[in-house]
Amino acid sequence: MKAIDITTKKENKEKLEYKEIEYMVNSYVKGKINDKTMSDFIWSIYNNGLDMDETYYLTDVMIKSGETIDLSSINKPIVDKHSTGGVGDKITLIVSPIVAAAGVCVPKMSGRGLGYTGGTVDKLESITGYKLNLTKKQFVDQLKTVGCAVISQSEKIAVADKKIYALRNEIGAVDSIPLIASSIMSKKIASGSDVIIIDLKVGKGAFMKTIKDATKLAKTMVKIGAYYNKKVVCTLSDMNIPLGLNIGNVLEVKEAIDFFNNKHEKRLYDLSVYISSLMISSAKNISFAKAKKLVINLLESGHAKNKFYEWIRSQGGSITKLKDKAKKYIVVSDKTGYINSIDSQKISKLVFDLGAGRVKKTDGVDYAVGVTLNKTIGQKVLKGEILGVIYYNKKIENMDKLFIESFNIEKSKRKPKKIIIKTIK
Ligand code: URA
Repeated sequence: MKAIDITTKKENKEKLEYKEIEYMVNSYVKGKINDKTMSDFIWSIYNNGLDMDETYYLTDVMIKSGETIDLSSINKPIVDKHSTGGVGDKITLIVSPIVAAAGVCVPKMSGRGLGYTGGTVDKLESITGYKLNLTKKQFVDQLKTVGCAVISQSEKIAVADKKIYALRNEIGAVDSIPLIASSIMSKKIASGSDVIIIDLKVGKGAFMKTIKDATKLAKTMVKIGAYYNKKVVCTLSDMNIPLGLNIGNVLEVKEAIDFFNNKHEKRLYDLSVYISSLMISSAKNISFAKAKKLVINLLESGHAKNKFYEWIRSQGGSITKLKDKAKKYIVVSDKTGYINSIDSQKISKLVFDLGAGRVKKTDGVDYAVGVTLNKTIGQKVLKGEILGVIYYNKKIENMDKLFIESFNIEKSKRKPKKIIIKTIK
């Protein structure tokens, strides 16, 4: 087999066989073909697509390039959750303990955030002492005792995806539906859960900008799950507006703590309750309404909050010792009106410039920086009233102006869009 022939075949829009995709992926992992040859192959897929069989072949080859996690010794329903990444997305911190408190195990492996804001791993690292690298045995033991564990993605899972995803980022070939679907699903399937819930973000602050593309991606991931007999459920949620009131690693941990103390912003509450109900109903095979009732009970009774503290403690974290050393800059509104939208892309760019995100996996992040919104969508603000606070360690030019520009403040009030768009099974 020759790499050039396989790439040419795809460029001619012909269907690839399993062994051809396997040859390309494994040769790249072993260093037998170089970045340039692999980039040509990736571009041929990017431009011509993959059908469902080919997408499955790619997923399967990437799963087999690494190790898989065996969760069969756990005698409880198990559910994994994945988010395609959004601005202010602290949902994992909230739903994992809620679902664990309902008697469903949540084994979660998270990657480091690339791009404008940190990922779940960065948020958890802002808690002093929190251990992200458990051994497989410690991970499974904690799932058995506590019910949830969140650790950093093992380097040994879907090894080929790691190398190919890094190359795709470098050459700008990320936003291809078959490539995204196979990349996400290879890691999720290798992680061992039989039920996988995906929170697929749509809008300005997400990679999927349109509902049409997001629906296509969701359907592809559900179909990949079916090849492995896995139940995959995808919820499309709106990411035109940041999620919740805090954006930045430690600030989002603080918002999760507030959440369990009954201080929550409506859209964050709605999505958290929805995703945890979906996780519980899908894993336990009970109705969504019954699962939702359970979630609300767990929140109101304080059981979910206790589980949150138990989880953080069991991974070594001291919730009273947060890495939150930053200066505050208060921003006031320059006009009176209703907040009809908040541009999540602009806010995340500001938070990135403050130091909360990274470009390469090896870059460090500043856990303490970010922004909090004192006012959010649908609310009225008066000229001179506090709009939010910027937490910074290195001041950036015009940061207050950049923050204000993210808000669309108008004379009349528009009805805010719902956060949950639709669910695809
Ligand atoms: N997240 C992934 O893990 N892979 C992609 O290709 C895109 C997002």
